[in-house]
Amino acid sequence: PPSPQGAYLSALNDEQRQAVETTEGPLLILAGAGTGKTRVLTTRFAHILLQGHAWPEQILAVTFTNKAAREMRERIGTLLGKPVDSLWLGTFHSLCARMLRRHADLAGLERDFTILDTDDQIRLLKQVMAPFRIDLKRWPAAQILNQIQTWKDRGLLPDAITPAHDEAQVANGHARAVYAAYQNRLRELNACDFGDLMLHMVTIFRTHPDILEYYHKRFHYILVDEYQDTNTIQYLWLRLLAKRPDDRPANIACVGDDDQSIYSWRGADIENILRFEKDFPGAHIVRLERNYRSTPRILGAAAGIIAHNEERLGKTLHAGQQALEGEPVTVINTPDSDDEARTVGGMVQRFHQEGQSLAEMAVLMRAGFQTRPFEESLIRLGIPYQVIGGLRFYERAEIRDGTAYMRALVQPADDLAFERIINTPKRGIGPKSLERLRAVGRERQLPLQATIRQMLERKELKGKAADELQRLLDAFDRARETLATQGHVVAVEQLLEDSGYLQMWRDDTSIEAPGRLDNLRELLRAIGEFPTLPEFLEHIALVMDSDQLQGQVDRISLMTLHAAKGLEFDTVFLPGWEEGLFPSQRSLDEGGNRALEEERRLAYVGLTRARKRAIILHADSRRLYAGWQESLPSRFLEELPDEHVNRTRLKRPQSSFGAPAFSRRNRLGQEMLAELKATRPPTRTGPAPELGATVRHPRFGVGVVTDIERNRLTIEFEEAGQKHIMADFVEILP
Ligand code: ATP
Ligand code: MG
Repeated sequence: PPSPQGAYLSALNDEQRQAVETTEGPLLILAGAGTGKTRVLTTRFAHILLQGHAWPEQILAVTFTNKAAREMRERIGTLLGKPVDSLWLGTFHSLCARMLRRHADLAGLERDFTILDTDDQIRLLKQVMAPFRIDLKRWPAAQILNQIQTWKDRGLLPDAITPAHDEAQVANGHARAVYAAYQNRLRELNACDFGDLMLHMVTIFRTHPDILEYYHKRFHYILVDEYQDTNTIQYLWLRLLAKRPDDRPANIACVGDDDQSIYSWRGADIENILRFEKDFPGAHIVRLERNYRSTPRILGAAAGIIAHNEERLGKTLHAGQQALEGEPVTVINTPDSDDEARTVGGMVQRFHQEGQSLAEMAVLMRAGFQTRPFEESLIRLGIPYQVIGGLRFYERAEIRDGTAYMRALVQPADDLAFERIINTPKRGIGPKSLERLRAVGRERQLPLQATIRQMLERKELKGKAADELQRLLDAFDRARETLATQGHVVAVEQLLEDSGYLQMWRDDTSIEAPGRLDNLRELLRAIGEFPTLPEFLEHIALVMDSDQLQGQVDRISLMTLHAAKGLEFDTVFLPGWEEGLFPSQRSLDEGGNRALEEERRLAYVGLTRARKRAIILHADSRRLYAGWQESLPSRFLEELPDEHVNRTRLKRPQSSFGAPAFSRRNRLGQEMLAELKATRPPTRTGPAPELGATVRHPRFGVGVVTDIERNRLTIEFEEAGQKHIMADFVEILP
């Protein structure tokens, strides 16, 4: 029986307990989702303290997010029965920032150095690039910044860069010199960027053995969560701290799951797990095989999907709760994307009425832009929600810009809106010029747009700014004509195009830019749901207003799959499982298996967030700007083992607006769905089409099969051109 002091150990199974009690020497816990890796790490931290092996300041613990760090700090406090401070517990970046403050001088900085944000970085980089005469159209600053960031993530200082590191010949081979100049300029400004936090510390460790030795003496224990997602520089930093010169085995414990490696696009390298045994000879490897989070059905479904990946270390996962089979994973096929959002809203409401707290539910999606219809559905039903790891859709900068363009379009006197976009993209109108324009406007008692128009006519404005403003007003004029002839969706798209706003984001090669363009496309889709622009703008005003709920309210969480790592909820909704959305179009375009396998790991992460209930959705058609586009079910749906899945097809609701189809039925969950009569998608009987076969599709007409990948066909249609279609959906012509 556990001693009173060791009571916390009895909350662990044997393997977990072994992992906690093996405090000395290197340890790698390689285990699937929900097996208690994070719990082990937290308990290990407490155990080391309770056993008197070390003081709190002598343990270094790395988490993947600040949120995870806060949670771990709380749980350690609970285990110890008292709050703990002065812990070295945080993300790689926060820990490095703290170290760098102490050794700033060794990086050529003052203690109070500034950490630049992306905007500052770009501005600085542009200054630095000027003397190099780099064509900014061809090599935008953001792209060069990306390259610099990649080098920093790989631990490369400017001097270490060889032509082999610059295969793309970024900025015609000037990137290395720009990097060096940029680093010098940062130093002069007593500043560093995010990537420098790690790079400076690794450099200091490498060049100042005394400092490294200080940390060797200081940190007796190192703990790392989500080890599968460390990138090269993080790995180097850890290895320097953990590998001592006297070859005494380091007390480093890393936990990870190769199946949940989802950050390779940011340089994370799964090899770091594989290298562990080599780096730390004699390392203990512990495997945890019992999952305590999810029902056996959910686990079975998740295992079925991930089994399709070839690049795996291979692990077994058993459910911890054998007795409770649980509900099968539900797959709901809705007629269109609006129904999908309404269905989720309706189910959330239903489960909430049933007594489930909103905080125990989450909607997890592939991309940030997908939150919009779900936010609106929840708002309509008055259900409080939060967007984790990002802003609510209508609060995002590019969406505020986009709606400002629309307001300035339909209300030319809306100066607030016009001022927001007058210099976005940059048109050479700084704060001073703007103040001058405002002053003229006040004097002439005209709104800003009209003032500028008059000033241009009277030739009171000159130079580049005048040309740019003329172009902007012309764009508004053209869009107003289009508004009358071709409708509001086309007009807004044209305005965002002609004003240079969309181009601004296309030229931006930062990692967030594609997501912003996706959000803008989603905005155009949203407009299409309303008959006129003023109605849409009024809708937004109401949506924004309903955000006022504050404080400790029970809320459902919306977030991307990436942001959901490490978290858990009773009920998880997984919408948008369609080809081109999930797996993402970008991963499909890349071709090959690498990107696709990472998408599949994301699916695995998504499903394994659920404790009791996982609901996957896909729609037959998705709203495009002005019309609809047919979509194919995600290949991951076919990979779900049938015995763990209940597939349901919803019919189009009779009343086409408002509540979900089942709103009047007083039933719950599975029952409600059964009621909606599970009908499988239409399947073709008879043989599958062969290469070269002539086929007919109900919508695209007659075409020839030019490629077959399992049951997905590539078809050249006579009228519609090339399309990818599920084999089930076509009829073979003789
Ligand atoms: P992920 O891979 O998703 O990060 P994980 O391996 O870190 O998962 P945890 O989050 O630590 O898993 O644990 C999953 C859930 O199982 C938590 O709710 C945790 O409290 C619970 N749990 C872990 N071990 C046990 C155990 N021995 N007995 C009961 N519950 C446990
Ligand atoms: Mg975890």
